[in-house]
Amino acid sequence: MDHFLYRSGILHAEDVAIPEIAAAVGTPFYVYSTATLERHYRLFTEALDPLPHLVCFAVKSNSNVAVLKVLGDLGAGMDVVSGGEYLRAKAAGVPGGRIVFSGVGKTKAEMRLALEGGIRQFNVESEPELLALSEIAAGMGVVAPIALRVNPDVDAKTHEKIATGKSENKFGIPIAKAREVYALAARLPGIDVCAVDVHIGSQLTDLAPFEQAYLKVADLTRALRADGHDIRRLDLGGGLGIPYTRSNEAPPLPVEYGALIKRTVGDLGCEIEIEPGRLISGNAGLLVSGVIYVKAGEGRDFLILDAAMNDLVRPSMYGAHHDIVPVVEPAAGAAAQPFDVVGPVCETGDTFAKARHLPALAAGDLVAFRSAGAYGAVMASEYNTRPLVPEVLVRGDHFAVIRARPTFDEILNRDTIPEWL
Ligand SMILES: *Cc1c(COP(=O)(O)O)cnc(C)c1O
Repeated sequence: MDHFLYRSGILHAEDVAIPEIAAAVGTPFYVYSTATLERHYRLFTEALDPLPHLVCFAVKSNSNVAVLKVLGDLGAGMDVVSGGEYLRAKAAGVPGGRIVFSGVGKTKAEMRLALEGGIRQFNVESEPELLALSEIAAGMGVVAPIALRVNPDVDAKTHEKIATGKSENKFGIPIAKAREVYALAARLPGIDVCAVDVHIGSQLTDLAPFEQAYLKVADLTRALRADGHDIRRLDLGGGLGIPYTRSNEAPPLPVEYGALIKRTVGDLGCEIEIEPGRLISGNAGLLVSGVIYVKAGEGRDFLILDAAMNDLVRPSMYGAHHDIVPVVEPAAGAAAQPFDVVGPVCETGDTFAKARHLPALAAGDLVAFRSAGAYGAVMASEYNTRPLVPEVLVRGDHFAVIRARPTFDEILNRDTIPEWL
């Protein structure tokens, strides 16, 4: 459930009419609903009660500092995958003790940054990374709390670009090798072994792969404890999928996911960490765009929008589906016609949808892409020198720009011409 509904025939974000934001900000823009973000976070934390737990929002899904503050103020932790994301979490007021650092290629500079600012845990993905972290932490005279991210060799049955838990993927340490690397970790200076981490992929619409992975983690945890390691926490990753259409079958609910966690690892006495991104932010955001032209083609009509693949890359990158709805609600029974919905970028890949049935639309009308709050704005670029798409946050009847559209002066001033040219 989200808070983007038609009221008196006009799409609203909570209590704010979308055309009101469009008039103030211009199109395209992203708009996020505070109430939806809060609701989704609470679904997870309630699903894990009464187990001790921390829900660490995957910052990579939506890293706007205002969005992070909404969640951080409720007590959420953060899962970051770069020094930049770490700084965003801190800027949102999240203490280091609630920040988990994931990622396969952490640099020594990023390790130092997090150790200086405070960190809950590093999720270490390889032996060379473990050795580097030990060197940095010991050199600073501090101890780095760690989990090893294990690769359970489970097929997440999701899009190949976002499956991470098969042995052929670049992520984690093969689970069969984990005890050996834990033994190494326990001998290294500057390292405190405290957890096991697993993350098998994103947009999972079936609980079975989670179950397979978590049962393997439970077995490993028992074996590691028998080896003498004090495993106090389990980080079970993110990846629960969301409905991208209103019609298809519904993915599992957080409460079902929570029950699975309790069933598979609930008896180990560990504090549970999870790292959901998409399920918290995905359906909390829209991308709103204006129609530039309706162009009649041969056998098809093109709806040419002012949003493009640089603003929302998921359709061209993953072949992803986003529901597209008119901001003015069509009359009941209004005729729909198929459109190819495209942006202005000079690539055929700049296509949001083919033969999408929409009511009659004209230049100047507004449309909204649903489920655009995750992996939307964070993946935007300025390809074709299209200014980075702005972001707006709504709470009740308030809205505010939380990242402004850059001016062309700002964009051009980032380039410099060498003096020898
Ligand atoms: C991407 C990622 C997540 C979040 O995945 P979602 O599908 O957005 O829930 C969590 N943890 C790690 C390590 C990730 O790489």
